[in-house]
Amino acid sequence: MDLLSPSVPTPLERLVNAEIEKAEVQLYIKRDDLIHPTVSGNKWRKLKYNLLDAQARGEGTVLTFGGAYSNHLYATAAAGNALGLKTIGIVRGLELEGKENETLRFCRQHGMQLHFVSREEYRQRHLEAYLQEVARRFGNPYLIPEGGTTELALKGVAEMVFEIESQLGSIPDFIATAAGTGGTAAGILSAGANVLAFSVLKGGDFLQEDIFRLLAKCKQPGNLTLLADYHFGGYAKWNSELQAFMQDFRAEFDIQLEQVYTAKMFFGLFDLIRKGFFRAGTTIVAVHTGGLQGLIKA
Ligand SMILES: *Cc1c(COP(=O)(O)O)cnc(C)c1O
Repeated sequence: MDLLSPSVPTPLERLVNAEIEKAEVQLYIKRDDLIHPTVSGNKWRKLKYNLLDAQARGEGTVLTFGGAYSNHLYATAAAGNALGLKTIGIVRGLELEGKENETLRFCRQHGMQLHFVSREEYRQRHLEAYLQEVARRFGNPYLIPEGGTTELALKGVAEMVFEIESQLGSIPDFIATAAGTGGTAAGILSAGANVLAFSVLKGGDFLQEDIFRLLAKCKQPGNLTLLADYHFGGYAKWNSELQAFMQDFRAEFDIQLEQVYTAKMFFGLFDLIRKGFFRAGTTIVAVHTGGLQGLIKA
């Protein structure tokens, strides 16, 4: 499958069960998990214009950052491979050197060069001086920050909102998304839609500032509601309650979620629906941002 001829528009499906009916809300799921077999969900949306920009500038190598289970590294490796770009991944955690997991193995198999750095060094990933040093060290590659979250990413995510608008006939009252770096939330806001962002990290309140920084040049963003209490202990942490929720969700709707992002968002969303957070008649579209290669086999 050609990277830049993905399956778009991705389906928009209605979800109905007793809780949703009781609250008299309309809930839809935007199936961005189906956008591409290896570059799934919001990573495809966020990478699109970054990679087109790299190509347009005649860049041969792309360098980016991520953790050992990063969906973004995975997506960048697959996309770079498909587009004939060399890829370099700076991976958080020196101790991982030589210890492969499925994500890192996939990255390598798709030609990504992996460089492991200490957590201390990784923390500098947004600092200008560090980025200059990295650029020098690796022969001036095209740099993409962690998560692919750049202003160009917003444009790609906004296209998803326009798909929803034409599928639904209007922009819904809320678009819900899981948030890691906040790039997806910012992209949706940039298209003028209101966002419910479910932080998957502990202490996710910092996201508010990061998201507003990304929107600095945006004229009329939507309103952001940040939900910071559905992180289940922090990034990539989960418990048996979340696992049971994923199983129930699959049994009820025949849709697979994963434990790092999308299950936390849907868990939070159903909690809000039960608690009467939404007025009757509210329309909500929840984005299935993909990431299923990171699914725990449980
Ligand atoms: C990366 C990722 C997110 C988080 O996106 P951000 O733009 O970093 O907030 C959400 N869901 C999935 C499946 C992801 O892989």
